[in-house]
Amino acid sequence: MTHTAAETASDGGHHTDWHPDLLRLADRLTAEGQERLQRIEQYAQQHLRRQSIEAWNQERLPMPMVEALGELGLGELVLDGSSQLFQGLVHAALARADLSLSSVVGIHNELIVGTVENLGSAEQREQWLPRLRSLQARGAFCLTEPEHGSDIAGGLATTAEPTADGWRIRGAKRWIGLGTVADIALIWARSTDDGQILCFLVPTSTPGYSARLITPKTGLRIMQNAEIDLDLTVGPEAQLPGARSFASVSHGLRSSRAWVGWQAVGAQQALLDIARSYALDRQQFGRPLGSFQLIQSALATIAGNLTVSAAFMAETARLQEENRLTMGHASMAKATLTRLARESAATAREVLGGNGLLSEYEAAKVAADVEAIYTYEGTYSINQLILGRELTGVSAFV
Ligand SMILES: Cc1cc2nc3c(=O)[nH]c(=O)nc-3n(C[C@H](O)[C@H](O)[C@H](O)COP(=O)(O)OP(=O)(O)OC[C@H]3O[C@@H](n4cnc5c(N)ncnc54)[C@H](O)[C@@H]3O)c2cc1C
Repeated sequence: MTHTAAETASDGGHHTDWHPDLLRLADRLTAEGQERLQRIEQYAQQHLRRQSIEAWNQERLPMPMVEALGELGLGELVLDGSSQLFQGLVHAALARADLSLSSVVGIHNELIVGTVENLGSAEQREQWLPRLRSLQARGAFCLTEPEHGSDIAGGLATTAEPTADGWRIRGAKRWIGLGTVADIALIWARSTDDGQILCFLVPTSTPGYSARLITPKTGLRIMQNAEIDLDLTVGPEAQLPGARSFASVSHGLRSSRAWVGWQAVGAQQALLDIARSYALDRQQFGRPLGSFQLIQSALATIAGNLTVSAAFMAETARLQEENRLTMGHASMAKATLTRLARESAATAREVLGGNGLLSEYEAAKVAADVEAIYTYEGTYSINQLILGRELTGVSAFV
């Protein structure tokens, strides 16, 4: 049988009853939740997965894809009363189709909508949440700086200086998702008054907001990341009243790090899908690759990593529901699961042989994207150190 990428992607038609949710976590959702998840999964598989390859090759974010995600209700997951498990399985379903689009939705919910809802003023919520909820407006979460990545908590150098009629914000940000296309920026800055970390909601049309695309990137190529220069003045109403120290940032990062754990689940579902379909279709030595012991071992490695990851995230969702998730849990989810996803990505890529190097066959695309999720939201090492601090009570950062 001649193997094509399209057959791999569509699962060839003869493996269609197979689903990578090996623990059947979706069965724990309500009937309504299961039905909604299935609709989102089908949409993602039919309209995002294959279509994202060209956008990835061209390093382009197709806005109609983002708008369609809004129409599916994915801009308001953190506000619509969905259970943590439902939200997680939706994030996995999106990540299974494309990790960049999953990043757009995850950051939007966890760090943009979540921050405005939890820390914003009544006026900010009223003005921005309706359009954010429908994904008609998009935000950029501006924390990392050119000179401060891992040490941002102590090092944050962008300043907010009180003026007669508001604030003057000066500094630079780096790696900011959607920084060039967002409607609003949530800018974290240090008050020149008392050194505290504050946050400001600033329309990106404000004079003195200047963003350049960071390109070319080798991972998350659809997600647009920006380097931003800031020298702008805003009124007092731009300040988020609930953001008064770095603890406000940490609160958001706890749930966004857990979300990256779900991305690792979805990425590994994709990798198992891709490697399994390929192994069933591709013949060598007159037999399908999937009939060789070493290939089955590779599939079993990915399935094992995926299943451990999914089980971990189901328990993470339970802790979130019980309001007992610590930063250590979230860092463990983020670091351990992206480490497993990296191993799964290398293993899947190998199963595809030479085709494992072509974005068209997807394994290489997922593998490159996994490198980015291994590093953002705090690098692997930094999340290990956060967990280490929680385990020992001793900070080993410096
Ligand atoms: C694709 C992508 C999207 C992103 N999106 C956003 C966004 O939307 N908003 C935003 O604010 N930020 C964003 N980031 C920034 C991201 O959070 C940072 O890249 C990350 O925190 C690491 O910072 P850095 O790149 O400056 O690396 P550095 O801090 O320079 O680290 C370099 C290396 O040194 C290691 N290291 C540093 N300190 C220590 C230590 N004490 N002990 C041991 N090892 C250490 C790190 O683990 C890493 O391996 C994004 C990044 C990427 C790549």
